[in-house]
Amino acid sequence: MKNKLIITLAPTGNVPTREMTPFAATTNETIIRDLKECEALGVSIAHLHVRDDQEKPVSDRNRFKLLSELMDKEGINLIKQFSTGARGGGMNDPEYRGQMLDLKPLMASLSTGSSNFPDSINGNSPEVIRELALKMKKYNIKPEIEVFDYSMISSAVHLLKKGILEGPLHFNFVMNVPGSIKGTPKNLMILADAIPEGSTFNVCGIGKAQIQMLTLSILLGGHVRTGLEDVIKLDDKLVSNADLIKRVVSIAKVYGREIATVEEAKEILSLRK
Ligand code: MG
Repeated sequence: MKNKLIITLAPTGNVPTREMTPFAATTNETIIRDLKECEALGVSIAHLHVRDDQEKPVSDRNRFKLLSELMDKEGINLIKQFSTGARGGGMNDPEYRGQMLDLKPLMASLSTGSSNFPDSINGNSPEVIRELALKMKKYNIKPEIEVFDYSMISSAVHLLKKGILEGPLHFNFVMNVPGSIKGTPKNLMILADAIPEGSTFNVCGIGKAQIQMLTLSILLGGHVRTGLEDVIKLDDKLVSNADLIKRVVSIAKVYGREIATVEEAKEILSLRK
């Protein structure tokens, strides 16, 4: 069971808009539609962002609450993972960025260092990281440590030693964001080798790195994330969240990785009961 593949769907993100792709899932209605479809295809974790009415990324607690309640109402059983990322606004304000954590999702994202996006700073100061981590600990939320560069693993290990994070750690290697670590097989191997014994890891490959990075993670025993947050085209054509999941499932099948159910994913990641 430990060897099963956990698939995370990141349907929305901060960047895609309806102008960029007709498949964009930036409203509750479209997010719910895609979560439902992708749950049936084998997804077990929903990495969630919310937008305001102008499609601008926000960290608004009420919007997370509404989306979360809609998921429950629609019978969507996926593990909820709320984003606390810098692009949801209030970069240096841990209160703002973690305002939705008291809703107690099973998981939340936690970046353990700073880097650059093409047009903005992915700013995560030591204070912001510590405050968000402590809030996750308080509510028994498992952080997914977002690794945009090698040093973010060292920061996470430091927080583990200080007891601010608790093991086993779960990492997500965010490969190929322009300005962060490039999505190459060698880089992925180096990251996978650098995490503490007993940790789990997930990989997302931005844009053109998508297929190679996810395939390599499947081969290495890691887990995978896909969705329009990470890539909007396959084979040079705009695709939907479901199209991306179907591709990942087909790759996993080729390499003999069975897909984890939601219950199995909870077990593999040691999430709270
Ligand atoms: Mg995200």
